[in-house]
Amino acid sequence: MSDETKPIKPVSRRSFIQTAAMTAAALTLPGCSRKQKPELTTLTGDFDPLRSYPYRGWEDFYRKIWTWDKVVRSTHSANCTGSCSWKVYVRNGVMVREEQAADYPRINEDLPDYNPRGCQKGGCFTEYVYSPQRLRYPLIRTGERGEGKWRRATWDEALTLISEKLLDNIYNYGPDTNSYFSVIPAMSPVSFCAGSRFAHYTGGVFLSFYDWYCDLPPGEPLTWGVQTEACECADWFNAKYIILWGSNISQTRIPDAHFAYEARYNGAKIVCISPDYNSSSIHADLYFRINPGTDGILALGVAKLLIDDNLIDVPYVKEQTDMPLLVFTGTKRFLRESDVKAGGKQDVFYFWDSKQQHAVAAPGSMGSDQKHIKLEGVDPALTGVFQVQLADGKTAEVTTVFELLKKELADYPLDKVAAQTGLPAHEIQSFAHDLGTRKPAMIIHGAGTNHWFHNDLTNRAFILLVALTGNVGKNGGGFNHYVGQERIWPEQGFFKLAFPETRKKQRFQNTTLWSYVHSTNHDPHLYGGKPIDWYIQESVKNGWMPLWPKDGRKPRAFIVWRANYLNQAKGNEILESSLWKDLDLIVDINYRMDTTALYSDVVLPAASYYEKVDINSTDCHSYIHPFGKACEPLFESKTDWDIFHALAEKMSQVATAKGLKPYHDAAFDWNRDFTQLAQDWTGKGAIKTDEEAVNFILANADETKGMDYKLIQEQPQRFKATDPESWNSPIEPGVAYTPFKFQVVDKKPWRTLVGRQQFYIDHPWYIDLGETLPVYKEPVPEKYPLYWNTPHGRWSIHSTWRDHRAMLRLQRGGPIVYMHPDDARKRGLQDNDWVRIHNEVGACVCRLQILPGEKAGRVTMYHGWEKFLGFQQGGWQSLTYIKINPTQLIGKYGHVNFRLNYWGPTGNNRDIKVDVEKAKV
Ligand code: SF4
Repeated sequence: MSDETKPIKPVSRRSFIQTAAMTAAALTLPGCSRKQKPELTTLTGDFDPLRSYPYRGWEDFYRKIWTWDKVVRSTHSANCTGSCSWKVYVRNGVMVREEQAADYPRINEDLPDYNPRGCQKGGCFTEYVYSPQRLRYPLIRTGERGEGKWRRATWDEALTLISEKLLDNIYNYGPDTNSYFSVIPAMSPVSFCAGSRFAHYTGGVFLSFYDWYCDLPPGEPLTWGVQTEACECADWFNAKYIILWGSNISQTRIPDAHFAYEARYNGAKIVCISPDYNSSSIHADLYFRINPGTDGILALGVAKLLIDDNLIDVPYVKEQTDMPLLVFTGTKRFLRESDVKAGGKQDVFYFWDSKQQHAVAAPGSMGSDQKHIKLEGVDPALTGVFQVQLADGKTAEVTTVFELLKKELADYPLDKVAAQTGLPAHEIQSFAHDLGTRKPAMIIHGAGTNHWFHNDLTNRAFILLVALTGNVGKNGGGFNHYVGQERIWPEQGFFKLAFPETRKKQRFQNTTLWSYVHSTNHDPHLYGGKPIDWYIQESVKNGWMPLWPKDGRKPRAFIVWRANYLNQAKGNEILESSLWKDLDLIVDINYRMDTTALYSDVVLPAASYYEKVDINSTDCHSYIHPFGKACEPLFESKTDWDIFHALAEKMSQVATAKGLKPYHDAAFDWNRDFTQLAQDWTGKGAIKTDEEAVNFILANADETKGMDYKLIQEQPQRFKATDPESWNSPIEPGVAYTPFKFQVVDKKPWRTLVGRQQFYIDHPWYIDLGETLPVYKEPVPEKYPLYWNTPHGRWSIHSTWRDHRAMLRLQRGGPIVYMHPDDARKRGLQDNDWVRIHNEVGACVCRLQILPGEKAGRVTMYHGWEKFLGFQQGGWQSLTYIKINPTQLIGKYGHVNFRLNYWGPTGNNRDIKVDVEKAKV
């Protein structure tokens, strides 16, 4: 019998302790030097751990945890902006764990790489997939909405019900009564396109998301004529000055925060501007504990210091911005060619040439014949007041935008800025000096400042800082906004799949406006002496913003997938009691039971991130990588692609059975033959599977030419090129992507009316409301004492993972509101008290956490908590309502036109105030 198989006498606990003590004593005997090996006699015989030992079974069990049958590359799509590639390990058909893939190719040897990227939420998704909130079967509501009473249905029954209702709406009330909501195509475009194609071929209204979530920085479309442009995060390392402005990257950009912190080894200084002392503040060289809602005045005060101290980049400002353009001192309108020449153009503008001493047409504007912005043989004046001769022979006084800006900035002297922001004047001065002298400098911008009502003004003021200092369009510089995973890199391929008959044949709708108009939301404030309803009516009447359904009809059906509309909606209790009641069909397609699913009529179970084929991209890096099917969709779930395919087939069958004639959709002169819907939806059978859809996108975009699904399943691939129609910089080998090199290096016009970075907007509403230039406007007044702050959190991505067991264990296990000790003391509140947070809109009841890092005068609840996750009353959106900024309703102004997710009112939620009291529970 070998030693390994010899039976061993059991060791009693007592003899084990004695043996262990003797061993320890032997090992510490004096004279036991390294040379004199102690004799380990006590560890031989029955107790020798190297020989056989009873109870070895558990070791095998432990080792087996780490074995697998196959590994599949996948990722997550919760709008985290991370876009991290993961390996999913599968054993016996069960997804057992995930691991960061860590094989993004390096950009160059000098830049830190993207490996490994991930966060704690992604690291526990396999557990989420099998958790109780997972949807398994189609469900049809049997109780009241939100009551949680359901019956299991077959796919056939559920799809038949939906098809009949949608067709009924189309033929009886119009196709625009069917509304579709899904978000962020970049995070899983095939899933997105599955439903957008369906909306497209059935004439439904497709709702926006990026503006509604207030992730859109409206200052970018206004100033640059783009939706959002930001450098990829590796470019943070190239900066010498990084301003974290309202962006808590340690919590919300977990895979990328290291680039900023490592930049300090590369000579960068970091400034963190945030009312709370948070986990990013601790990495900063300078921390500004700013008063909430005063970021705009700080930016304008710093702009004044930059100009006063001659810290601006004059040649850059003359060539790249509208600062030299001429404006009538009287009407405040730009001087246009139509003013100085009979029959002249409305979209050609002038500067004053200091060499020739007369007004000269600026190159590169929308109406200019010169398709560049080079200054050849001229020297535009930045300051001065001039007389120009008009077409009618009269003369008029004009001045430059820069002159007007200087006048405007005179309102922001240092002492006023210091008093309003609560910051020391000398530190504001040193901030301005560093910004003007450390090149390149960048602002990393987040929701902390973007979620305010005057976000457009604040954005414009921030962009002004980096434009005056010549930092835009340069590696390591610029205004880089990261809120939401908005960048769909292979855009051309995506649009062809999403809206096949061109985007012009699709009913698009800004969701902020849709949700406001079709509910009882009411904003009591006046803007320029008028209620917001006046601006809305004007905007719709002028054709600036679309409003579907037309002619006062109400939406009747609402299909939601890849989103949690109701939970995330500003004023969701107002919507629940109005819009929701008018909808007679709400369908939610989801892999988990979230708030929107709970308040729906039909729930269809979708495949999770690890059970489908798709692609994923982000503005945080320049790579594409896939979702993979680690296993077939669990239970009776299907991929989004297969769900809408099945729905299209069912609708064709129902239309055939009912003998429906084609519906003439007059808006597009489109005869919609629903008996052929499945044929249309699959592109006449060309794109039946999700892998075919992925390959369609990849093949139809410059960025991904030559790639296919198999290649990206092997390894993430860096984009090959950028489509010049959509992008503003090339992809350069060995160089991190940063936008606006086409303009700054190649001197192509900016995508604005004036062809330059446009800080001056001479639209009549901007003139009337005093917003032609970036100005500071205080937060919208509310009568309660504490700002209500609902930022992105560390332990969830919006509402996803909010209900994950592991994530809940990292916090207090339920909704918490954070309050400064002084505010708690004033109210006699103790840590962990149940508190009632309330204002005129509503109330919610949850636990209190007293947090010295919070700013006095503000309370914070990290957003996304589902309504059913532990509130005694209400939820985090019970206190908010929809407020529309009138300046965001304009259109038909050069580059400022409604475009889905590019331009339209944002659903801001920071100008809300509340009070807090002890709750009676
Ligand atoms: S959730 Fe987002 S950030 Fe986290 S690992 Fe997944 S992709 Fe990355």
